[in-house]
Amino acid sequence: MKKPLLTVLLAVGLASAASGEPIRVVTSIPDFGAIAAAIGGADVTTESIVKGNRDVHAVELLPSLMMKVRKADVYVKVGLDLDLWAQQIIDGSRNPRLLVVDASERIVKLEVPDFKVDASHGDLHAHGNPHYWLDPANARPIGEAILAALATIEPGMATTFRANLDGYVARLDAATAVWQSRLAPHAGAEVISFHSSWPYFARRFGITIVEHLEPKPGVPPTPTHVAALTELLRTGRVKAILMESYFDDRVPAMLSRTTGVPLVKVPVLVGSAPGIDDQFALFEEITGSLARALAGGRPAD
Ligand SMILES: [Zn+2]
Repeated sequence: MKKPLLTVLLAVGLASAASGEPIRVVTSIPDFGAIAAAIGGADVTTESIVKGNRDVHAVELLPSLMMKVRKADVYVKVGLDLDLWAQQIIDGSRNPRLLVVDASERIVKLEVPDFKVDASHGDLHAHGNPHYWLDPANARPIGEAILAALATIEPGMATTFRANLDGYVARLDAATAVWQSRLAPHAGAEVISFHSSWPYFARRFGITIVEHLEPKPGVPPTPTHVAALTELLRTGRVKAILMESYFDDRVPAMLSRTTGVPLVKVPVLVGSAPGIDDQFALFEEITGSLARALAGGRPAD
């Protein structure tokens, strides 16, 4: 991408601060990489620790991941205790010049417990629900946190980075309006989900999550809990079972078969399924599949 002349001159003027190399950004999840790439364009490279259809809560601490971060300029973590493994990778990288960004910093947090969290609550996060990237409107606060780090490293590019973020958010906002109108006929629809990944999404798109397959966050479904959910689904109140694609679908598929409530299995990360290459494709897929199920059609697999 060609840069405006003024920006080039500013960047040249700051040549002592800038190496001329792209800023290397490593992120916990690809969704943050997509936002960083939108802000930085050709001036950043991005790489994600979590790749593919994986559970973000658990990552194996391979030495190769620490080597990746050793060469990085910026690390962007999810925070809110979701990716506690990221701190071990950051510490293990022994990279003293690494700028660490907590992308949750500027997020308006949901489900912040008003009681003391202990092991009896499962994997419940003490500082609020960490699945905030599933609201496309949170690309703004996530992007602002990333922008601040990139502009610290390349101050001469700050204006360009800001314009890139504004453009990206404007395109995402326009798409969000379309996704919202797709789900608007189903406002208030009651849905159960596998994991508690959805409060930010549910608020943005007007659905109501009434139960989870996990009896507590991170605890697999138990027979007692499944029996209670079967009762709930048989009332006809609940219109869909929404599940994150990285889980085993045997229990939700069985629940769907026995109760007739449609199962909607969707990716929750950029890059976790073929064609889900950016945030636009991710939300297109989630809102499209959910809207089809709520309308009584079969969700796309
Ligand atoms: Zn979680």
